[in-house]
Amino acid sequence: MTSTSPAALAAATDTHCPYCSLQCGMRLSPGPDRAGAEGAEGAGLPVEVLERPDFPVNRGALCGKGRTAPALLARAARLTGPLLRDRPGGPLRSASWPEALDRVAAGLARTRAEHGADAVGVFGGGGLTNEKAYLLGKFARVVLGTANIDYNGRFCMSSAAAAHRRAFGLDRGLPFPLADIPHTGCLVLVGGNPAETMPPAVRYLRELRENGGSLIVVDPRRTRTAELADLHLQPRPGGDLALALGLLHLVIADGLVDRDFIDRRTTGFGPARESAMAHWPDRVERITGVPVHQLRRAARTFGEATTGMVLTARGPEQQSKGTDTVGAWINLCLATGNAGRPYAGYGCLTGQGNGQGGREHGQKADQLPGYRSIEDPAAREHVAAVWGVPAERIPGPGRSAYELLDGLGRPGGVRALLLAGSNPVVSAPDAGHVTERLRALDLLVVADLVLSETARLADVVLPVTQWAEEDGTTTNLEGRVILRRRAVDPPEGVRSELWLLRELAARLGVPEGFPAEAEQAFAELRRASAGGDADYAGISYRRIAAEDGVFWPCPSEDHPGTPRLFLDRFATPDGRARFAQVTHRPAAEEPDEAYPLYLTTGRVLAQYQSGAQTRRVAELNEAAPGPYVELHPRLAERLGVVDGEPLAVTSRRGRAVAPARITDAIRPDTVFMPFHWAGAGRANSLTNPALDPVSRMPEFKLCAVRVERAHLEVTT
Ligand code: SF4
Repeated sequence: MTSTSPAALAAATDTHCPYCSLQCGMRLSPGPDRAGAEGAEGAGLPVEVLERPDFPVNRGALCGKGRTAPALLARAARLTGPLLRDRPGGPLRSASWPEALDRVAAGLARTRAEHGADAVGVFGGGGLTNEKAYLLGKFARVVLGTANIDYNGRFCMSSAAAAHRRAFGLDRGLPFPLADIPHTGCLVLVGGNPAETMPPAVRYLRELRENGGSLIVVDPRRTRTAELADLHLQPRPGGDLALALGLLHLVIADGLVDRDFIDRRTTGFGPARESAMAHWPDRVERITGVPVHQLRRAARTFGEATTGMVLTARGPEQQSKGTDTVGAWINLCLATGNAGRPYAGYGCLTGQGNGQGGREHGQKADQLPGYRSIEDPAAREHVAAVWGVPAERIPGPGRSAYELLDGLGRPGGVRALLLAGSNPVVSAPDAGHVTERLRALDLLVVADLVLSETARLADVVLPVTQWAEEDGTTTNLEGRVILRRRAVDPPEGVRSELWLLRELAARLGVPEGFPAEAEQAFAELRRASAGGDADYAGISYRRIAAEDGVFWPCPSEDHPGTPRLFLDRFATPDGRARFAQVTHRPAAEEPDEAYPLYLTTGRVLAQYQSGAQTRRVAELNEAAPGPYVELHPRLAERLGVVDGEPLAVTSRRGRAVAPARITDAIRPDTVFMPFHWAGAGRANSLTNPALDPVSRMPEFKLCAVRVERAHLEVTT
């Protein structure tokens, strides 16, 4: 870790992409100019990306984000030394590691002494490796003694996770490998756009159709993915719950339920049936805007297929009723016998690179490693024994991500925050408010590889290693634990989060138990997860490399791993899947006279999440240089808007300005903004933090807005 330039190691290294949950396999080969890696992108970078066709998930294919990932290794894009601020509002200046760490440790200790342990908080990220997520959770509970740790994955997948657990007793994004998709008879994809978010996965959709299967896409926009579908249902934002209930109604009415499966493997069908029968086709058309003939076609196609799958993504999940919405789609699967057998079932397309593993090992407010509940006495005993502390020392559940951010600097809230791998100034709902709360902290410490918008607010910035500069595991959307390998030396002055947690722990009086080596941390994680739902006990770095990843649960070294869950029984106490008792309800905020349109937000092909990394890659920036407001030609005409003209979008929380992009791919009652940018075009200035009561997921996916021509809006 002491190289003066990010030189590549000698040989090619098999590893995985730093971005999304597909975790595509790639090979990093020493670049053409290994010595002079100072330059920007392309020539001069220490490694180049080669295909790795043998890795089964992406079979060599990569999207532009993965192909250009080495640009992030260029020093010009990076933080290369700690920064700190001497006084509030003063400039950030360079500092040595000892000075920065002393300052952080002293600040955390002071806050804890003056305001109690829960006044210190930790906010993690779904991009952190399993080892980092695990030790971050341990650091919060054992070193800081705080209950207040959560992470940005709460914004990403928590509703699907909650619904999964409620129905099946266990949450793994996909209970089957992606390679099963082409063998199902009908796939319903709800609120996901893999053609832009994870293009290599589209081959599975194409193969499904080549095999004679049907693809139904549910999305308020005619996305690139919807264009591949046999049938595109285009509901109003927030209509997904009613839509699923309406399809179940028709499946029941058409006699397409699998009575034998319902009797043998489920409970709770009676009330679910009753609720579905109250969602008759005309009513569902009124709620969703989807014509009855399309509802009938979708229900028949899914109900008559030999096997069927439903996959959800952020569309139905990021709602104040996200858990119930996903539950309604699971009900449709259960009623038709599409669960617990090959080529059938419900799954969630997780978003972030380690969205799956990041939620399993303890950086979530209510969970301990191995996907254990922090309120389960046996789980607390097990984890406490691995950590070498009494179980009583482990705090109880803390605040969920948005509630934690909303309480920053307030009485009873967190006053000193350690934040790793997240950029809430851009990615949190009601981001203007969250930015104010971050500013109200006594101490903000940000560990990141770039000077993100959130890092710019920090009192101390700690530059950390990334992706190709370190070893570590992640768990992809299939539950496949994979291994990222170090391929280059990090810049001098940059350290791993594992190292800095060890250093901070020592300064705070816990000199043992925080290994800086990833494989050592993983060995402890295996023991901590043993016997839990997400059991990694039998998974080793050696096995992962030899087997192209290992699917959890894998309780022992001679266990083959579990690519397909629930084939014999579901993970509930009685082994039966549970129907959810759900009914349609409106969103927390529906359009009205003052705010007459829906806003929905999402991602574009060339950017990733808050854009902190991809906005620093010239090729990606050229492809997607800034935000925009997508609107239907009829709405544009009504507003007198021409393409490219700046539009002001206003919600009850804030205002964003971005150029108009006119397209008939969107509903006339809805506008769309991508959320990758900060500044005037920040989509999350507008979004609604209303929370799902079960998952505590904010309602990112829809809120009420008004749209005006920006120059008129200024003068009226
Ligand atoms: S699809 Fe996802 S994992 Fe694959 S290359 Fe693109 S961003 Fe990386």
